[in-house]
Amino acid sequence: MCAHKPLSTVEVRRQNRNRVYRQLTSLWEPITKQELAARLSMSLPTLSQNLNELAEMGLIDRSVTTSSTGGRRPRLIQPLADARFAVGAEVTSSDLRMAAVNLRQETVAYQKWDLPFSNTEAYGTELAQRIERFLDENRLDREKLLGVGVTLPGIIGPDQSTIEYAPTMGVHTSVSCRFTRAIPYPTRLDNDANCGGFGEWWNRPAQQSMAYLSLSRGVGGALLVEGELYDGVSHRAAEFGHLCLHPGGRLCECGRQGCLEAYCSSARLSDDLGISLETFFQRLDQGDEQCRSVWHNYLEDLATGVTTIHTILDCPVMIGGSVSQFLPPFRTQLESRIRELDPLSGQADFLIFCPGSSRSVCIGAATRFLYDFVSRL
Ligand SMILES: [Zn+2]
Repeated sequence: MCAHKPLSTVEVRRQNRNRVYRQLTSLWEPITKQELAARLSMSLPTLSQNLNELAEMGLIDRSVTTSSTGGRRPRLIQPLADARFAVGAEVTSSDLRMAAVNLRQETVAYQKWDLPFSNTEAYGTELAQRIERFLDENRLDREKLLGVGVTLPGIIGPDQSTIEYAPTMGVHTSVSCRFTRAIPYPTRLDNDANCGGFGEWWNRPAQQSMAYLSLSRGVGGALLVEGELYDGVSHRAAEFGHLCLHPGGRLCECGRQGCLEAYCSSARLSDDLGISLETFFQRLDQGDEQCRSVWHNYLEDLATGVTTIHTILDCPVMIGGSVSQFLPPFRTQLESRIRELDPLSGQADFLIFCPGSSRSVCIGAATRFLYDFVSRL
C-alpha cells in the first residue's frame, strides 16, 4: 500500500477554494461572510483569502450589502451565474441545435436550424460559422466561453476525434471526425445519450448513481456511478438500445436482431405508422385499436428492458428522450409489469421519468464543460 503523500500547499489552497465555491453555488443566494465561514467551519482570514481569489476570477460579487439596521452593514457574497458559460451543439442527420448554458445550468440562448449532416470540412466550416453567429446574436462574451460540446447519436472513439459508429448519420465503420476542426474553442465530441444523462444527473446533486435510458428515434443511455460518468473500457458503456430482448426478432439499425431499440424506438409509435408521436398518443387516448395493440407491446418490451438494466445495476433508472414526456399516465401499468418481471426485489420505485425536452441533449453537452470547470476550480 502506498502512503498518502501530503498535499502541496497549492493543492490545499485549491481544495479550500473549491469548497467555498461549491458552498456558494449550492445556494445561489447572497450570504454573509460570517454565515459562510460557519457553514464551512473555516476561519475568517482563510475564507477572505479564498473569496479574494474567486473575486479575481470574476466568479463572485461582493458589492451588495444587507439592509440591516444601524451600524456597519455587512456585505453579501453572491456567486455569478453568468461568469462563465459553455455551448452545446447537437448534431443529427437533419438538424442542428445549439444552447448556451451558464454556471447555474440556465439556458441563456437556444437556437435550432435545419442542416443536413455530412462528415466533411464544408459542414465543419458551416458549423463553426453558425457558432460565431450564435455568440454574436446572443451577445455572448467569448472571454467567458469554456468550450463547445458537440454531440451526435453515435459511438465516439476514446481519442474523441473518431466516430466509431453512427448508423443514423450514415457512419457504419470507424471514421475520423472531420467537422469539428474549424471550431476555434476547446471542443469535445460526445455521445448524445451520455450528454442527455449527464445534464439530468448534474441537476440532481443528491443522485450519486443512476442509469439513464433515452427513448428517442435511437435508444441509448448513460451510466453515472458514484458521481462519475462511467464510459466503459472502449467508450461503449450503457448502449442499452442494443440489449437483446428477442433473439431472432426485429431487425435493428445495428444489423443484429431483437435489440431493445428495434422495439422501443420512438419510430415504433410514429414513423412506422406514418404519424407523429403526438398523434399516436391522441389516438391511443381515443381508444384506437391499432395504437392500443402497439402500445401494449411497447410497454411490455420497455418493462423488460428496464428490469434488465435495474437487475444489473441496482440504481435509479431515469427514462428520458422524446417518448418520456408521454409516460407519466402509464406509470402504474409499467411499474406493475416491472414488479412481475423482477421477483428479486419486487419493487419498481426506482423509476424516474425525466420531463426532458428537445433541448436536453445540447444542454447536457454544455454541462460537461461546466462540470469540468467547477471540478478543477
Ligand atoms: Zn441493435
